[in-house]
Amino acid sequence: MRVLITGAAGFLGSHLCDRFLAEGHSVIGMDNLITGNTQNIAHLAGNPDFHFIRHDVTNHIFVKGSLDAVLHFASPASPIDYLKFPIQTLKVGALGTHNTLGLALGKGARFLLASTSEIYGDPLVHPQREDYHGNVDAIGPRGCYDEAKRFAEALTMAYHREHGLETRIVRIFNTYGPRMRLDDGRVVPNFIGQALRGEPLTVYGDGSQTRSFQYVDDLIEGLYRLLLCDFVEPVNIGTTEEMTILQFAHIVNEITGNAAGIVFKQQDRIKGDPQTRRPDNSRAKTVLGWEPKIPLRDGLPPTIAYFRGVV
Ligand code: UDP
Repeated sequence: MRVLITGAAGFLGSHLCDRFLAEGHSVIGMDNLITGNTQNIAHLAGNPDFHFIRHDVTNHIFVKGSLDAVLHFASPASPIDYLKFPIQTLKVGALGTHNTLGLALGKGARFLLASTSEIYGDPLVHPQREDYHGNVDAIGPRGCYDEAKRFAEALTMAYHREHGLETRIVRIFNTYGPRMRLDDGRVVPNFIGQALRGEPLTVYGDGSQTRSFQYVDDLIEGLYRLLLCDFVEPVNIGTTEEMTILQFAHIVNEITGNAAGIVFKQQDRIKGDPQTRRPDNSRAKTVLGWEPKIPLRDGLPPTIAYFRGVV
C-alpha cells in the first residue's frame, strides 16, 4: 500500500509510520510541526519508502500519485496543547478532516480517523462503550478538542454514507510510550520527568480520578488491524487496567526509585477533567481479535528509558 499519515511527526503518527514501513508499505508523512517533532521521524531519513511533507492539513492537501489509505492523526492531543492551540485544534478536527476525507475520496483510498475517548467527555456511564453518547461541555476548556473530534466522526460517517467511502474510526484511550513529548503536560511525561529529576510528582485534585494506560505498541497493533478490517462503526482501543492517578503516581515513584514523594495541586485540575475513564473494549476483541498485551509494569520501563535520554 501507499499510505498518507497526517501528524506523522507526533507520538502516535511516528509509531504508525514505523509500523507501516515495517509491513513493507510506502509512507508519506505529513505534519505542520506545531506539536510534532521531526526528531520522532529522524531515523526514517534516507528510507526510500518514506517521504515527509511539512504541511498544515487545514489547507488544501495535494499528494502526487496514488494512495491506498489515509490515516488522519494530526491534532494537538494533550490538554495543555489544545488549551494553547484551541483554534488550530478545532480547525484540524474540522477542516483537516474535511480535506483528508476529500483526498481519500479523490484517490479511492480507505480512511482511518483518529478519534478519542474524549468523545465521552466526563462520562456518566462506566466503563465507556461505543454506544454511549457522552457527557461533553461544548464551551468548557476541553470543548475545542472534544467537539472537534465529535464533528470529525460525524463528517467521517457522512462521507461513508453519502459517498460510500471506506472509513474506519478509532477511539483512542490514554496511551503512553517512547516519543511522548516531555513537556506535553500529560500525566505520564509529567510524572516520569519529575521522578527522573528527583522532584515530587504533581497530582492534580485529590488524585481519585481514574485513567487506564495502554502501551503504544498495543494501540498500533489495534490500529493496523482496524484499517484492514471491514468494520465502519467506531471502535474503542484501550486497556481495561484502570487506576487512580494517585495509584499511578505511587507506581512511577516506585519503579524510578524516586524518594521525593507527591504534592497535591488542587487548583491545577482543569474544569471538566473526567473523573473516570476506562474503555469497554469488547468490540475490539470481537471485531479485531485484539486485546492489550502489555501491562503497565512492562510498558513503563522502556518509556522511562526513553525519557531518561531527553530529560
Ligand atoms: N494530572 C495530574 N498531574 C499532572 C498531569 C495530569 O494529576 O502533572 C491528571 C489530570 O488532572 C488528569 C489525569 O492526570 O486527571 C490525566 O491527564 P492527562 O493530561 O494525561 O490526559 P487526559 O486523560 O486528561 O486527557
